Amino acid sequence: MIETDILIIGAGPTGLFTVFEAGLLKLKCHLIDALPQPGGQCSELYPKKPIYDIPGFPEVLAGDLVDNLMEQIKPFQPGFTLGERAEEIEKLEDGTFIVTTNKGTKHHANAVAIAGGLGSFEPRKPQIEGIENYEDHGVAYMIKDPETFRDKKVVIAGGGDSALDWSIFLANVAQEVTLVHRREEFRGALDSVEKVQELVTQNKINLITPAEVTDVKGSDKVESVTITIHDEAKRFQEIECDAFVPLFGLSPKLGPIANWGLEIEKNAIKVDNTLDYQTNIAGIYAIGDVNTYPGKLKLILCGFHEATLMCQSVYQRMNPNKKYVLKYTTVGGIDGFDGSRKEAEKAVIKKIGS
Ligand SMILES: Cc1cc2nc3c(=O)[nH]c(=O)nc-3n(C[C@H](O)[C@H](O)[C@H](O)COP(=O)(O)OP(=O)(O)OC[C@H]3O[C@@H](n4cnc5c(N)ncnc54)[C@H](O)[C@@H]3O)c2cc1C
Repeated sequence: MIETDILIIGAGPTGLFTVFEAGLLKLKCHLIDALPQPGGQCSELYPKKPIYDIPGFPEVLAGDLVDNLMEQIKPFQPGFTLGERAEEIEKLEDGTFIVTTNKGTKHHANAVAIAGGLGSFEPRKPQIEGIENYEDHGVAYMIKDPETFRDKKVVIAGGGDSALDWSIFLANVAQEVTLVHRREEFRGALDSVEKVQELVTQNKINLITPAEVTDVKGSDKVESVTITIHDEAKRFQEIECDAFVPLFGLSPKLGPIANWGLEIEKNAIKVDNTLDYQTNIAGIYAIGDVNTYPGKLKLILCGFHEATLMCQSVYQRMNPNKKYVLKYTTVGGIDGFDGSRKEAEKAVIKKIGS
């Protein structure tokens, strides 16, 4: 059982910044995310795009914003459960919560902050009969650890950035990489398309277009796939492989959270925005893109603000008899849970005047 003060569901920008604000109040955080990496939409959908409306940053790449947030929260040593979806929640008699993921990991927390954005990103799966029998037995819809493909024969399907980037990366890791796409044109970044072309010429990637993987075969794990080639003859090709990785993008779904008894309006969680972004269940908060209230704006800076106010509420919930006095970081500095301390240099003036 993972123990924490605030369990944050969603490691997007809102969830990450929560760790910082909670840390200032000496509250520990643990984050769960369905994706294998932190950063939410910024990392998954537009890491190389510049954002222009983060206060203090005239321009910042979404991926760099995530890196900076990770650096900023480092002193507060957050825990991460990545690549797992928060599935069930149980409120205990003492008002604390147990949240269990789809992989069975259990987390015990005083408060739960749902920072789930548009929902948990679920992979778009190909329409291949029986493919679910091979999931985790050679079929993967996202790559968590490329080392698992070392010296293996891998078939990747897709025509976007993920399919291109992973084909390039695995060309130097796997024994054999085959990239299958149903069109001849790719939707990825120009330099990635060019790099794939180069690797095809060097026989490091076997490119098959316009084609689709239409069958997966094997006894208890993937042993081969059937590829239907969409040329005039409509040929079929059988390729021996250890892994089949369809990378057709991710679609967000509120998913299991929708069944937690929370008030939902238009696929978002209703919160009390006049106070602390608490939901209709005391101790469960919803912040960032996932919540709704009159005037809501789905912007990163709004998520940061909501996270800040929510942490104050959790502090009061956990310390009902203490009065919190706001301290500026310029004055109080930052005391990390790792023993580090950051503070502004203080001038020592012994005597003022003559
Ligand atoms: C192309 C594009 C450009 C954008 N440009 C800007 C911009 O210029 N400025 C701006 O302010 N905003 C911009 N946005 C919006 C901005 O990205 C979002 O407002 C922001 O990402 C919301 O952050 P979040 O942390 O609330 O949610 P998200 O970033 O959506 O992160 C939520 C995370 O929660 C996870 N999750 C959800 N449910 C579960 C579950 N049950 N279990 C485990 N994990 C779960 C998801 O996997 C996801 O990683 C843009 C969005 C897009 C798509």
